[in-house]
Amino acid sequence: MKLIDLPGLNTKRIKALSESGIHSILDLLNFFPRRYIDRTTVSPIQSLSGSGEETTVVGRIKKIQQKGYGRKKRLEVIIQDNTAALKGVWFKGGHYIRKQFSEDQLVAFFGKAKQYGRYLSMAHPEVDTLGDESEVENLQQIVPIYPGNKSFSKTYINSKLIHRWQQMILKHESPPEFLPDGILKEHQLPVRHKAYRMIHLPASESDYKMAFKRFKFEELFLFELSVAKMKHEVIEKQQGHLFADLGNYTRRFFNEELPFELTEGQASALSDIKQDVRSGKQMNRLIQGDVGSGKTVVAIGAILMALDNGFQAAFMAPTEILAEQHFRTLSEFLDPLDITIRLLVGKQKNSLRTDILTDIEGGACNVVVGTHAVIQQEVSFHRLGLAVIDEQHRFGVRQRAEILTKGSHPHVLVMSATPIPRSLAMTLYSDLDISVIKGLPGGRKPVRTAVRTQKKHQAIYNFMEQELADGGQAYVVYPLVEESEKMDLKDATAGYEKLKNRFADFNVGLIHGQMKSEEKDAVMQQFVANQIQVLVSTTVIEVGVDVPNASIMIVEHAERFGLSQLHQLRGRIGRGQRQSYCILVHGQKVSKEGRFRLRKMSETNDGFEIAEADLKLRGPGDFLGTKQSGLPEFEVADIIEDQWILEQAKSAAWQLMAEDPDLARPNHRELKKVFVPYYKERSRFYGMG
Ligand code: ADP
Ligand code: MG
Repeated sequence: MKLIDLPGLNTKRIKALSESGIHSILDLLNFFPRRYIDRTTVSPIQSLSGSGEETTVVGRIKKIQQKGYGRKKRLEVIIQDNTAALKGVWFKGGHYIRKQFSEDQLVAFFGKAKQYGRYLSMAHPEVDTLGDESEVENLQQIVPIYPGNKSFSKTYINSKLIHRWQQMILKHESPPEFLPDGILKEHQLPVRHKAYRMIHLPASESDYKMAFKRFKFEELFLFELSVAKMKHEVIEKQQGHLFADLGNYTRRFFNEELPFELTEGQASALSDIKQDVRSGKQMNRLIQGDVGSGKTVVAIGAILMALDNGFQAAFMAPTEILAEQHFRTLSEFLDPLDITIRLLVGKQKNSLRTDILTDIEGGACNVVVGTHAVIQQEVSFHRLGLAVIDEQHRFGVRQRAEILTKGSHPHVLVMSATPIPRSLAMTLYSDLDISVIKGLPGGRKPVRTAVRTQKKHQAIYNFMEQELADGGQAYVVYPLVEESEKMDLKDATAGYEKLKNRFADFNVGLIHGQMKSEEKDAVMQQFVANQIQVLVSTTVIEVGVDVPNASIMIVEHAERFGLSQLHQLRGRIGRGQRQSYCILVHGQKVSKEGRFRLRKMSETNDGFEIAEADLKLRGPGDFLGTKQSGLPEFEVADIIEDQWILEQAKSAAWQLMAEDPDLARPNHRELKKVFVPYYKERSRFYGMG
């Protein structure tokens, strides 16, 4: 059967359908209802409360009348069952609708029943005209409602018509199953052609629920299968460098250099890494740890394992500021060990750059720190054994795949400061092994957070003054609204001027996104060295910077920030021995969601809890902030709501991949037909195709 065989299809409608991505009969079958209305219960009119409940009533027509004039013109049809009367009202199209009615006729109205004056009414009810009472049985059904759009309404494609088409298609078509029998049975999924019936022509609520589950499963299963395949092809088949020895570097660092004990979380992450790099396979591991949990030391441990075995390591951060900061931290730790570490960033002079590149290629340089350009540009390494990526979620799956597959196939260690909720991590990072660093290094006092209105600035500044006088340092953060960076700058600059006056006894600095990176760096350095006590900034300080003496943070217009962003910001303080304070200042008008965010921040310091809440508020696309995050846009499934289906689909997919990686078995033939093109598409996306 072809689209064109459907009744009522003309070129305009075909165009409208194709604008919605419907080019074939199968596409149309995959066009699912947005919701269903339940017409299975017929209510006695007397029983209705009139508060707008959606229901079906059946009665005989008592009166048909045209009422009102001009714009108030309307058709009223009064029906009565053996309990009471109800009025159907049409403000539009009454002239046409009235043709189907005659007095004493039996009709069913479906709609929202509201009490208006003396009468219960339904505005524009759906109507079925019935021959006699026996037809009531047939009429009762679950009616699918399909999503509409502009081109649909222009060409008069409505939900009813789509439903008619689906009925027609399902009379003739029976799409073949491709999920293996065993999986259907194990997860109690309806077979494909039945599922289509259950979704378009359900007999009950449980019908379409089961059908939806199946299609969600199918979608997530294919996705997970592609991730499993990717892992199988790219990683499992790939030999990993062997870091067999824990040598001098590692021993000296942990025994002599490191000024503190590792936390339990750090130690267990390191032991995971040690196992990976001795397995003979390529490591592809994510370290998840809240801000301040001490991921850098873990990375250093991994770097030393590479160096001890004669390999080089690369350490990459999303921004130059961060790369520079990591360069300083790493230098501090590694210089005493006579390790050569170099910073590679865009702004360096050509001669210096050439020099660095030569050292990397020749092997004189052990560790390169930079932005992700380090991997993307034509930097050739002497013997790269490990790539560390900090603040992972800004990188995206694609870049990660590039690193894994290109060059010398280094081990990859990614570190995420944004605690990604389990549900999302499972999907996004299915191909990664995950270590979670729980808890913060000892001696840390949790940051205390307060929410205040702008009116309290006086009191806030007084408090801040005490902290400063007591030797602390402060961040004052202004929001950055992308559409108008200029306006923010005005905010931050005005704030800077104000604070300079208010805190005349201290040094106040300003840092914002439009400054050159040398300028930013200079200001940052001054803050680190405590030559500046108050740092006014836009959100450029969001990730990674480490100034343990900073103990107070004031966030202006805090209601404009997202939850994860606030959490990242707050992570800048509470890094030293001092009790730290975060004050979230908000304006007069705060949306309900804004209030929720502020309250959440004041209630918890737990990054995972905050991330979970943020994900719920914003949805996965926004949460990750980037389309290239690697997450496909699922059509049917919702990776938050449908977590349990995701887990089932994942385990089924990975098991199948382990048993029959090429889908060569006869009972996987149909699956292979569907999967091969799907996988091709996904791997193209990953830059591997
Ligand atoms: P993040 O996980 O946010 O990247 P960092 O690696 O920047 O955290 O560590 C935050 C701070 O905690 C740094 O100043 C670091 O030196 C310190 N730190 C890390 N591990 C420990 C530890 N086990 N004990 C005490 N301080 C630690
Ligand atoms: Mg960090």
